[in-house]
Amino acid sequence: MARRVVTGGAGFLGSHLVDRLLARGDDVIVVDNLVTGSRANLAHLDDNPRLTVLEHDVTTSLTVDGPVDSILHFASPASPVDYLRLPIETLRVGSIGTLNGLELAREKEATFMLASTSEIYGDPQVHPQREDYWGHVNPIGPRSVYDEAKRFAEAATMSYRREHGVETRIARIFNTYGPRMQPDDGRVVSNFIVQALRGESLTIYGDGSHTRSFCFVDDEAAGLLALHDSDVAEPTNIGNPTEFTIAELAELVQEITGSGSTIEYRPLPTDDPTQRKPDISQARARLNWEPTVDLRDGLARTADYFRSVINR
Ligand code: NAD
Ligand code: UDP
Repeated sequence: MARRVVTGGAGFLGSHLVDRLLARGDDVIVVDNLVTGSRANLAHLDDNPRLTVLEHDVTTSLTVDGPVDSILHFASPASPVDYLRLPIETLRVGSIGTLNGLELAREKEATFMLASTSEIYGDPQVHPQREDYWGHVNPIGPRSVYDEAKRFAEAATMSYRREHGVETRIARIFNTYGPRMQPDDGRVVSNFIVQALRGESLTIYGDGSHTRSFCFVDDEAAGLLALHDSDVAEPTNIGNPTEFTIAELAELVQEITGSGSTIEYRPLPTDDPTQRKPDISQARARLNWEPTVDLRDGLARTADYFRSVINR
């Protein structure tokens, strides 16, 4: 019986991973301080005897009794709104939290998997982004609390691999959306859908020409577990390579929700990356994984979820 520790397991992505790990028969220990996550994301698992939830800040310590086979380190504010509101906490969980996770992996001889991010490429000057691109990050701008914390986390992960022989995985996660995002999370997909359902204007930052490539959470979770279960130690992009402008996303949300919402243009946040699209050749070749849910379908499923949350 495999035993997994999922930090940040009460969050959006973490809770989907917990579902999949339990469904395949693993024991799961979630460690989460609920700073951006929610117990509600795990409420459907309340009666599952193979799940333990510890409400705890992983930057203070990370200890677990008994054997552990792997640690999936997903704790960190992830929405720009959250990490700009929690700059020091974000730096701490990316640095101290990651070191605590790596120490636990070393002690337990467990695999350590890091939830890294496309943000380590910053405002990329190479497009699409391949894993061998070193990135273009402003080290002192407001977003650096997230970008540099994750870059530190990747460096720490590779150092524990080299110095201590810890088995490691690094997932560079690109924009993911779907059920269990918080309605007030602040990311573009949740903002647009919630605004459309409430009949409010959709807020486009900038002129709508900047791009992102959006991955539905079921695809993302499948890719993350494929990487977790593999022997691929190199950082690996996990995301959907189909690129959209933010204006195209807004149009699609208007269409899918049948909303008559108008568009409201707001200033672009500082250092907001102008374009982002993963090259997933490595994941395709080595994990035999690629996304299958297109944006229209994924948005419709996400809108259904937000409809039920709003009606509740
Ligand atoms: P989320 O905010 O929904 O989940 C993060 C979870 O971590 C929350 O439950 C939060 O309470 C917990 N947490 C934060 N600090 C903690 C601490 N000090 N101790 C214990 N728990 C703590 O975000 P998400 O979208 O699920 O992201 C999960 C991970 O994936 C993050 O590491 C994020 O950087 C990474 N990621 C996500 C995306 C995405 O599009 N969702 C993209 C790139 C990377
Ligand atoms: N964005 C937007 N309106 C919103 C929220 C975000 O136009 O209400 C833009 C944001 O400026 C960025 C893109 O959408 O260019 C994706 O933002 P998000 O916060 O979802 O993720 P990021 O990729 O920036 O981490």
